[in-house]
Amino acid sequence: MSCVFNNPLSIPVLGFCAYSGTGKTTLLKQLIPELNRRGLRLAVIKHAHHNFDVDIPGKDSYEMRKAGAKQMLVASHVRWALMTEDALDSDPSLPHLLKQIEADKVDIVLVEGFKKLALPKIELHRASHGKPFIHTHDDNIVAIACCDETQTPAELTRLDLNNVGQIADFVVQYQQSWQAPKVTLPIDLASAETPQPGQQGLSVAQGINHILNQVSAITETEMVDLDLLDNRVLARDCISPVNVPQHTNSAMDGYGFAYSDVAAATPFYVVAEVLAGHGYDKVVQPGEAVRIMTGAPVPQGVDTIQPRELCDTQNNQVTLLDTASIKLGQHVRLAGEDIAVNDVALSKGTRLGAAELGLLASLGCYQAEVVNAPTVAVFSTGDEVSQPGETLKPNCIYDSNRYTIKAMARKLGCNIIDLGIIEDNEAALTAALLQASAQADIVISSGGVSVGNADYIKAVLAKIGQINFWRINMRPGRPLAVGKINDSLFFGLPGNPVAVMVSFLQFVQPALRKMAGEQSPTGEQPWQPRYIPAIADEFLRSKTGRSEFLRGIYHIAADGQVHVRSTGAQGSGMLSSMVSGNCLIVIAEKDDHIVQGQPVFIQPFADVL
Ligand code: AMP
Ligand code: MG
Repeated sequence: MSCVFNNPLSIPVLGFCAYSGTGKTTLLKQLIPELNRRGLRLAVIKHAHHNFDVDIPGKDSYEMRKAGAKQMLVASHVRWALMTEDALDSDPSLPHLLKQIEADKVDIVLVEGFKKLALPKIELHRASHGKPFIHTHDDNIVAIACCDETQTPAELTRLDLNNVGQIADFVVQYQQSWQAPKVTLPIDLASAETPQPGQQGLSVAQGINHILNQVSAITETEMVDLDLLDNRVLARDCISPVNVPQHTNSAMDGYGFAYSDVAAATPFYVVAEVLAGHGYDKVVQPGEAVRIMTGAPVPQGVDTIQPRELCDTQNNQVTLLDTASIKLGQHVRLAGEDIAVNDVALSKGTRLGAAELGLLASLGCYQAEVVNAPTVAVFSTGDEVSQPGETLKPNCIYDSNRYTIKAMARKLGCNIIDLGIIEDNEAALTAALLQASAQADIVISSGGVSVGNADYIKAVLAKIGQINFWRINMRPGRPLAVGKINDSLFFGLPGNPVAVMVSFLQFVQPALRKMAGEQSPTGEQPWQPRYIPAIADEFLRSKTGRSEFLRGIYHIAADGQVHVRSTGAQGSGMLSSMVSGNCLIVIAEKDDHIVQGQPVFIQPFADVL
């Protein structure tokens, strides 16, 4: 069994493996100059015996290391070496060693040793040596270099062990055709298969796809005033009725003149002062300049502006300083350079935020046509669930789910209908659900949908709607009910408070964004929370076969990269983990765990929470 190998570099790594005595080092010593002749810059990593040393007793570096320096870096202008004392009880980690390589200085890393790792390797085999093959039990062998008499499978690239030039050609070819592995997101909607009828557990991606297929964008639109447009979604492209800026104007307080006059290097005669909101009607003549303020229209005859601090003024004369650095058109903002008249200023499906509202205002738009906001009805179920503000009865808990759901839905620009806590009684539930579906685009409940749940909600839903009860391969948030009650979409979220939030973010959020008419012209997975790559600062436990959504805390570390650690205890009822965290760490179904230093993806909360 070979261990998985993650290449942390953006250049290829190619191993050479063989039983000892085959002549690995001899070959590499001949291969390296051949590769250099072919223009390849090489790094080599070699596995060594535990007691190797590169230093010499008596040298300063040796003595200082022996005196206790854990790392010793010795450097001159031609060479440097870093020696690190590691007291490991097993082989050093190849990814860790690779990170020491300066990948911008070499084209490929050749690795000698590390036979057990699943990195791409060339097997060296000498028949006379009488040793077994490696490729028969290691599918990372990309080629075998052997002698004439050796039998090899037809599908394996065969090289001549005694023809170094041929092996060098193969390495060059390998380096040139190598591509960094494509990054896949932990939840990959594009490659999720359609669920089979009766399938027991659904992947998160299958669940999201299935939900998105049932959702269509609201078609009703309304005109809304600028001040009330925040977080609404544009129903049609916004075409600019004007140029922004309207006039070619100055970006500086300074002096405006014709660039062609600069060469004369004589003072200009200042004919006028142009203030923002005013104009100069005449044409500025050769030898003339205007004093001009930021935002003031540039008069005819002027094409260049020099900031005031680079000018010397005496009465009505201005002399330009540092004329060599003046460029034609400097500090002039051209009419329409931000947005030209008849351009699409904002496209249909844009969610309007502060920047978009400012832009609409800059076009003079006082209203915009937006998609009607989705209406979301929310209720909680369960005999133990009590209203905050009331005295908590024995064995009960306060209803937190309704408040997290409402807050998240509001952030997504929805109207809310709060149906409160509905008692576990068939008639009450039926009435509430029918009433909710008549008023709302989406009805969301929490609790009562897990397997073996005694709650009435499942029975009622089965009667009045078409609801699927799913088990999603995820933690937290396994149970999920999704379907229709009349024309409304229904979500039955789990009961546990963290599971509710995680399920909302993964499943309800995309549905609400799509329903609201949001469109992302570029994003491959529109409506989905954003993924940001980060480096795990600690071992993170998961389990293959389910997606894990750990609450995490990310920060920018001293290396300038985003690092993340878990918030600690991860109980699905512990809302405090959502409060202390600032992201979800999303671990793919295929991963059993993430080791410290390994890349992971996070979903920052900033999107919605
Ligand atoms: P259930 O899915 O109904 O079995 O609920 C799972 C867990 O979530 C139980 O511990 C419930 O007490 C809890 N729970 C259910 N609804 C709510 C709610 N609205 N607020 C807080 N916790 C809840
Ligand atoms: Mg319950």
